[in-house]
Order: sequence, then structure tokens, then C-alpha cells
Amino acid sequence: MPRHLLSMADLDAEGIRTILDTATQMHDVQKREVKKIPTLRGRTIINLFFEDSTRTRSSFEIAGKWMSADTINITGKGSSASKGESLRDTVRTIDAMGVDAIVMRHGASGAAHQVASWVQAHVINAGDGTHEHPTQALLDAYTMERRLGSLEGRHVAIVGDLTHSRVVRSNLISLRRLGADVTVVAPPTLMPSGIGTWAQREGFALSHDLDEVLQAQGPGRPVDALMMLRVQKERMSGGYFPTAREYTVGYGLTRDRLMRLTDANPHLVICHPGPMNRGLEISADAADAAQSLVLDQVSAGVAVRMSVLYHLLAGADDPIGAVATNEGSAA
Ligand code: ASP
Repeated sequence: MPRHLLSMADLDAEGIRTILDTATQMHDVQKREVKKIPTLRGRTIINLFFEDSTRTRSSFEIAGKWMSADTINITGKGSSASKGESLRDTVRTIDAMGVDAIVMRHGASGAAHQVASWVQAHVINAGDGTHEHPTQALLDAYTMERRLGSLEGRHVAIVGDLTHSRVVRSNLISLRRLGADVTVVAPPTLMPSGIGTWAQREGFALSHDLDEVLQAQGPGRPVDALMMLRVQKERMSGGYFPTAREYTVGYGLTRDRLMRLTDANPHLVICHPGPMNRGLEISADAADAAQSLVLDQVSAGVAVRMSVLYHLLAGADDPIGAVATNEGSAA
């Protein structure tokens, strides 16, 4: 295991597999009446969030608490950063207290990498600007695998605001490493520059035509999983599409598209990292459909983050075997 988790590229296929397998054991803890295992007793984890979050921050906090770590939340607004303290001074101050891990979200791409070079603690990237969000990609893979089985040879379409999405960047790495075929779909204005070279290197397909991909005329095979991305209005400085209505008509998972799709492939699954813009990139019918895995993704988020914390923080003498047994929970 790497010392930090900053990018999905830090994990090879075997590393991803290890995290996902342990997450299955951690998921069992979630189903218990007493959700407590001793695995990270005596460890301290700081959640340092300079950007807003509901799912990621609370699931990291729950994950740490269920593993008996001491977890503390610091937000940009409530910290000395609001008094002008530099990021380096803030993280070195936290590090000097002797914490074991810093889970960090920041608006600047590359911030987690920088922080890792300044501190002794393990650093986990919980989203850095438009760059990466590795634990999101891990929980997406975990959720899809639970419904679809192995992702090897499965076709995943990722649709929407690619330019501003750290979720797509991490998912492209993990899905390709797990053997999935990926097509990314977006209007030309929301395709990041240089994506053609990137697609060639990583071996994924590009399209501007959602209906063509969904009719399997694009890459030539039906879509098994559809990942809808949020339109990230807070990161948009100009007009990336004429009107919200036109975006939805071209790229939204509307009720009509959902019906056509599920008629053709009843096993299709729908993911969204959240928060959803209902009525823009995803209709309420699709968000709440039987095929939607949105809440399964949230649930998996805790198990996957427990697994990541376990692999980064637990020592060799902390037996993973204790995790899934009642013996472990009684300790
Ligand atoms: N929650 C995810 C993130 O922080 C996706 C999103 O915000 O659209 O990147």
C-alpha cells in the first residue's frame, strides 16, 4: 500500500482489489447493532475540509469512529485559514500535534500532493479542485461490482460535466485498471482540453452524442452502467451551454431516456456521485428508479473509507481477520 492516497494512480489493479475486498468485510460492520471495531484505537484522524461536503466528510468521520479512531473535523471557514494563515502553516500546525492522518478536501488541484510533502501524517485526498477524488472512484467501483459482478469487460458510460469533474478523472483510472470499457459523453464545451490524447493513452472512448451511446451504436455495445455527473455550476465562470433545458435535452437522464434504456437493458445500473441537480443532469424518475445505485454508493462510501483508513493506518499486527468477526466487535 502507498503511504498516502492522493490519486487513483497510487493504486495498481491489485491495490484496488485489496481495498475493495476489505471494504466487503467493513460493510458487515455497518450491518451490526454495535458498529464498533477496535482496529484504529489510539489513532487520530483530522478531516480538513476547505470545500463543502455532506457525503465525503461525514462518511470519513463515521468510518474513523466505527474503527475506534479519534476523529476531528476542521473546516476552512472555522480555521485560522480565514485569518490568512497559509495552507502550509495550517497543515504543519495540525501535523505537529501528532495526528496520524489528514483527510483533505481543497479547491486547488494538487493541494493534497503538496500537503503530503509537508507533513509526517498519512494524507488522503478527499477531492482537490477539478483534479481527483480517489475514494469516490473506489466506492463507485465497489457499488457497481456488487450489482454487476466483475467490471472486466463491462461497458460504463460517464456523462456530463467532464471539465470540472474530479470524479471522472479518478474513475477513468480505476475503471480501466479493473478492465471496464469506458465511454465518456459530454457536449464539446464540457470536454476538457487534451482529452483526445488522454483517451488514446488510457484506452477509453469519447462521444458528444448520448443517445447514440445509449443505443449502443457508438462503441458498439450496450451500456451496463451509466454514471451521471453533476453540472458543477460553482466552478463555471462562463456559459458552457445555452440553457439548462438544452443541456437536459442533450445530456440529461430524462424520464424518456430512462424508459427506453431500461426496456432495452433491464440490468442497467445508474450512478451519481451526488449532490444531484434533479431535473438538470438527472430526472427525479431516474434518481429514484430501481436501477439507481445512488444510496448504495453512499452506503459503500463508509465501508470503502474504512478500508482505506485500515490499509493506510493499521499496523501489520492489527489483524484484518478481527474486523469481520464478532470477536473483533466485542473488543
Ligand atoms: N461530491 C463529488 C465531489 O466532491 C461530486 C460533485 O460534487 O459533483 O467531487
